[in-house]
Amino acid sequence: MTAPAAVARRLVLTGHVQGVGFRPFVYRLAHRHKLDGNVCNRLGEVEIVVQGDSNAVSAFALDVLHAAPPLAAPRLVLDEPWRVDRNLHGFLIAPSETDRAARIFVPADHFMCEDCRRELENPRDRRHRYPFINCTQCGPRYTLIERLPYDRLNTTLPVANVAPCRVRPTRAARLSRSRPVAVSRKAAS
Ligand SMILES: [Zn+2]
Repeated sequence: MTAPAAVARRLVLTGHVQGVGFRPFVYRLAHRHKLDGNVCNRLGEVEIVVQGDSNAVSAFALDVLHAAPPLAAPRLVLDEPWRVDRNLHGFLIAPSETDRAARIFVPADHFMCEDCRRELENPRDRRHRYPFINCTQCGPRYTLIERLPYDRLNTTLPVANVAPCRVRPTRAARLSRSRPVAVSRKAAS
């Protein structure tokens, strides 16, 4: 029996999709559905190409809207069939696109979320009473950003070990848990 034919689909999403852990979320979701493809930041929009089993692609397209990080509030602006690429294997977070006019969304600073509050108030937590507590769903964004798009390289966050191009799976997994700030370069200097 031959494997079912793969389908491909291109989705473009807008919303608060930068600086809230949205691309790592897409990465994990694609892996959960065993899909190939990539996700790319396009200055205010996120473009996703996924390819694989048609049921999995459909499930992915629903989850990407309904299981997204709460702050992202993604909205679908484009959903179209895409060309199946037989050479595509695995799912990548692609480099951000910076060479066209921006549909600018500057992510706002956000008050502490409930998860962080629980950690802050838990004496057994590593971050108990940590004054700079924050996560992908809360804390400073606007305060840290120097230019768009909201990538770590464009913020005052430490940039050591940040690859400017393709992000490997282990790196993406770590990024998904990354905290926007502990001590920024501005604050440290
Ligand atoms: Zn938080």
